[in-house]
Amino acid sequence: MPVKVKIQIVIAIALAALVIFAFSAVSLVASALLTIIAILYVEMIYPRWNFFGDAILDVKDRGPHAVAITFDDGPSEWTAKILDVLRDEKVKATFFLLGINVERHPAIAARIQNEGHTIGYHGYSHTKFHWRGRGFIHEDLNRCAAAFKSAGLNPAPIIRFPHGVKNFFAVREAKNRNLEICSWGRGVWDSKRPGVQIIVERSLRLKEGEILLLHDGDGANANVDRSQTAEALPQIIKGLKQKSFTFTSLK
Ligand SMILES: [Zn+2]
Repeated sequence: MPVKVKIQIVIAIALAALVIFAFSAVSLVASALLTIIAILYVEMIYPRWNFFGDAILDVKDRGPHAVAITFDDGPSEWTAKILDVLRDEKVKATFFLLGINVERHPAIAARIQNEGHTIGYHGYSHTKFHWRGRGFIHEDLNRCAAAFKSAGLNPAPIIRFPHGVKNFFAVREAKNRNLEICSWGRGVWDSKRPGVQIIVERSLRLKEGEILLLHDGDGANANVDRSQTAEALPQIIKGLKQKSFTFTSLK
């Protein structure tokens, strides 16, 4: 987050605290505390807010018309179908893999790497980190890294936290491991299986520089149905190509 934006947020917090103070019986200190707590909560649950660090929010620096397609929660048996589409369309994507699913499907994970896509970390168990302490997060990321290592993966130094939620410990863990935190610009809720055409329509609203979030897995679940995402993908890529977009990976 740019320094200018951070200064604006601090001013906004001060103003919000003054407003609460002026229009309620709460003291000025309590108003300020309430406002700061509210802001910190937004920081935890909103992936695009990164007051205490930086994060990759878009790919606007990759030239005009660049967009990025990213997949979370894999690998699963559906990843193979998705890789076929990407190969046929000559598109490189980024996969944020889950340690537990890499253990289940090491050969598919290796195929992602061999076909030139970028791999990033998504944790081991898909547990949300925002109410977890340092010990849990440290252990979860260690297990993820170990699973990647035994599958022979060579991930890029990027992480997307499960559900995008975070806290101070998660951000510090990422920093200690020299991992850049990645967010996304457009989620299309393919995870909820709303139907192929809805996934396609929502994805084609992608704007220049935006990062699209799709799913080739379903959290830590072993039984996965990503048939809709796999079926939507050729139409999404063809539609984006028609709009003259080019595809880039996050690293
Ligand atoms: Zn996920």
